Amino acid sequence: MKHIPRKRFGQNFLTDQGIIESIVDAIDPKPGQPLVEIGPGLMALTQPLVERAGQITVIELDRDLAARLRTKPQLNVIESDVLKVNFTALAQDLGVPKLRVAGNLPYNISSPILFHLLEHVNVVQDQHFMLQKEVIDRMVADAGNSDYGRLSVMLQWRYAMENVLFVPPESFDPPPKVNSAVVRMVPRAQPADLNPQLLEELVRVAFSQRRKILRNTLGKWLEEKGFSGEFDLQRRAEEVSVAEYEALAAQLSAMKS
Ligand code: SAM
Repeated sequence: MKHIPRKRFGQNFLTDQGIIESIVDAIDPKPGQPLVEIGPGLMALTQPLVERAGQITVIELDRDLAARLRTKPQLNVIESDVLKVNFTALAQDLGVPKLRVAGNLPYNISSPILFHLLEHVNVVQDQHFMLQKEVIDRMVADAGNSDYGRLSVMLQWRYAMENVLFVPPESFDPPPKVNSAVVRMVPRAQPADLNPQLLEELVRVAFSQRRKILRNTLGKWLEEKGFSGEFDLQRRAEEVSVAEYEALAAQLSAMKS
């Protein structure tokens, strides 16, 4: 039976075979690797992933699609909202230290998915996601760029990222209203002496009013934390590099302990 795409689930199905092959080539799955696909939908990516990796795990929220997927013996189907999936527990259940995560994500919840996975970064080998191109531009932007913001800092701190493929709207059915792209994300080693919550809070405060100089935003917050070190507050949040935010959070973390 033909599946009618559901807008509320961000269902834009890939139909361009050339693009599908390029995405699977970018993922480069090998037999037996613990691959987890988010939002398999009508299996445009799933089929070639299974052909290369063998058994894989898929997470699908749409119950009609999940029912179809369950008829495929090569799939371990989790019918759930991906935001409720505990990837750390999943890796344990599968008996592997790290997962390879991939998917053409539902664009309406792409940032929450990225932040959810950040909490499970220790069990991730790599991530390949199709997203709105504009979101990927923000993820990979450098300081000084108008796309640079909270998403850039919070992700660049934990992942090496690269934009690997541009995907135009006509590659999908129905076509989305925006351009898309595929990003590769590989977790970086975590600095031992940094409290991630502190970095999160610091970046949130800094970018709360991105046009103002930091003295007016971060200044008060740093004072409340009892910070007495050196930090140039005459700049705006978007002029401070990821490494500088990281170093400041590390100094604050050291003070707290
Ligand atoms: N992978 C397919 C493709 O490339 O053609 C479908 C991609 S479509 C953009 C997004 C998929 O994610 C749909 O199958 C949709 O039902 C599923 N989805 C939407 N929200 C979800 C959620 N919260 N958790 C898991 N899957 C979700």
